[in-house]
Amino acid sequence: MNHFTVFGNPIAHSLSPKIHQLFAEQFGMQLSYTRSLSSAANFPTEVARFFRHGGAGANVTVPFKERAASLVTHLTARAERAGSVNTLIPLGLGQLAGDTTDGFGLCRDLQRLTGSELPAPQIVVIGGGGAARSIIEPLQAVGSKVVIVNRTRARVEPLRELFPGLQVMDLAELALAPKSGIASSGFILINATSASLQGADLDIHPGWMSAAELVYDMMYGVHATAFLKQAERGGAKVTADGLGMLVEQAALSFALWHDGLTPKTELVLKALRDSA
Ligand code: NAP
Repeated sequence: MNHFTVFGNPIAHSLSPKIHQLFAEQFGMQLSYTRSLSSAANFPTEVARFFRHGGAGANVTVPFKERAASLVTHLTARAERAGSVNTLIPLGLGQLAGDTTDGFGLCRDLQRLTGSELPAPQIVVIGGGGAARSIIEPLQAVGSKVVIVNRTRARVEPLRELFPGLQVMDLAELALAPKSGIASSGFILINATSASLQGADLDIHPGWMSAAELVYDMMYGVHATAFLKQAERGGAKVTADGLGMLVEQAALSFALWHDGLTPKTELVLKALRDSA
């Protein structure tokens, strides 16, 4: 039986094992998929140990996606531009490929939620970590103008060279009401920070929440996340959490590990919502 795992910290609540079991059932396949709690110090050795013992593939989550990009021997072009890896694929002889499926997952989920190939003409993404960077290219590819807003502007400024057309802003600018020319209407607002993990509100003017066509949190949980509660208080028209993105990114990882076998995601998303 092939063995898979997900590396992260914290990791106890990861739904990846359940999602991949549900995908495997669709093809009458048996696999094992575990959670691997790692520390910054032991992440590289744990990854090496897992694949030395025959691991067939692994996911990487917060906070190791950037670190994973520097561990692999081969990076896909999209993972290299994103500087982020969430999927590890063994190539044999100690070689390891790294890819990112987060951007694909988000795009698919936004297309499902909006019923449109172009989810919105403009997408405002708060955050500048691995998750935020991996969604820029797929969103630009479907035709959306992307604005990246980060607490630490210096971290995202270099992205403008990598992704032509990208606009960057300081998170402090969202403390003020939206102005025409930046994003006054017709945009999707996405939280790609890890602030929701701490249950913390972001210092954002409610006008951003009410002006957006959709407010999306990459985080997900049984209850509404802190960001989505803040969005509802701010008068958001429609909100969505990142469970759909999680399932879609997992489906592409599954296909990468299983010769392109593509599972049905709607059924799995429904099963997860029903069991919450
Ligand atoms: P990361 O690389 O650690 O980046 C964290 C980002 O959050 C940074 O931009 C950081 O800003 C910002 N941040 C953290 N705390 C903040 C605060 N209190 N106020 C303002 N900004 C804050 O994490 P990541 O891998 O990009 O993941 C980000 C989130 O996306 C996580 O919640 C993760 O669970 C979620 N995610 C979900 C999916 C899914 O499938 N649904 C997939 C990927 C990620 P600085 O640069 O200023 O430090």
